[in-house]
Amino acid sequence: MAWNGLVDRYRDRLPVGDAPAVTLLEGNTPLIEAPRLATALGLGEDGLDVRVLLKYEGLNPTGSFKDRGMCVAMTVAVARGATAVICASTGNTSAAAAAYAARAGLRAFVIVPEGNIALGKLSQAVIHGATVLAVDGNFDDAYRVVSGVAELRDVTVVNSINPDRLQGQKTAAFEICEVLDAAPDYHFLPVGNAGNISAYWMGYREYNEAGFSAGLPRMMGFQAAGAAPIVEGHPVADPSTLASAIRIGNPVSWKKAEAARDESGGVIEAVTDDEILEAYSLLASSEGVFAEPASAASVAGLRKLAQEGRIDEKTTVVCTLTGHGLKDPDNAIAVCPAPLRVSADVDKALVAMGL
Ligand SMILES: *Cc1c(COP(=O)(O)O)cnc(C)c1O
Repeated sequence: MAWNGLVDRYRDRLPVGDAPAVTLLEGNTPLIEAPRLATALGLGEDGLDVRVLLKYEGLNPTGSFKDRGMCVAMTVAVARGATAVICASTGNTSAAAAAYAARAGLRAFVIVPEGNIALGKLSQAVIHGATVLAVDGNFDDAYRVVSGVAELRDVTVVNSINPDRLQGQKTAAFEICEVLDAAPDYHFLPVGNAGNISAYWMGYREYNEAGFSAGLPRMMGFQAAGAAPIVEGHPVADPSTLASAIRIGNPVSWKKAEAARDESGGVIEAVTDDEILEAYSLLASSEGVFAEPASAASVAGLRKLAQEGRIDEKTTVVCTLTGHGLKDPDNAIAVCPAPLRVSADVDKALVAMGL
């Protein structure tokens, strides 16, 4: 059956009534078995028999899970007669907002922290025709400007404070349950504004209560150590991490994320930038899956807990890879050796290749 996007597939579970969908055919992303990664993390062999799967959200239309939420938020906004949307963004929200606004024929305003947004993401916002404002400050500063503008003018905020965003994002949990015929035992994901962990938990609970999936996962959220307000228990004034998509000092969905953690028996912990980069390389080299650094916080978290012996044997683990690695290729170039330079000569090439 042809895939026609989230609203077509899950309309009766989304707050869209019979509104026409604003869609780029988002969703239906692959859930990829990761046996080499499982082995590299010490989970696949030695009788632990842990199955690791990757929910590769980088394959959404604009390259991140933000498309799920934006599809629903934009569908609702158009149905209510909106003419303009606005968001603050570390990058992926602005890319999705700009694309879906173009699709819907709405104006988009995006406010980003100056100099702190990956080039791939900025290129998306501008090519889709959004008006981009770069503010001197971080995400939290940009978000304050958005809230202020929305109080004074008739623009729809499409940050994750907009409940329609989380409604759209919960569909990733539905898709996982459909593939596995049950919920996984653990669900690992990065935490920034904490909307996604809250949305997944909502989706898992909803499918479970509807009788569509057995069990509920433990929600395992990971913040970057330099931007870990939930772990530290207070807002972080100057969040710092190379994983720009989770460089957030005062998460919008803080309370919801704590509820997801506590109700599911999960954790919200921190991983360092070095741990994130190691997971980022390992994922790409062991499984051929390229995700942006923030996404690799999920795998870094799994690696850390595996090393600490905190993953039960014979369980199923899903890691969400929130965004595509091509969003931010500078990091890949920075962590890998430069190409070997040789003259165009077979013998020299053989020597260089060690063959
Ligand atoms: C937005 C984003 C996150 C963080 O998600 P939250 O819902 O803000 O916690 C993580 N990774 C990527 C790639 C993102 O774009």
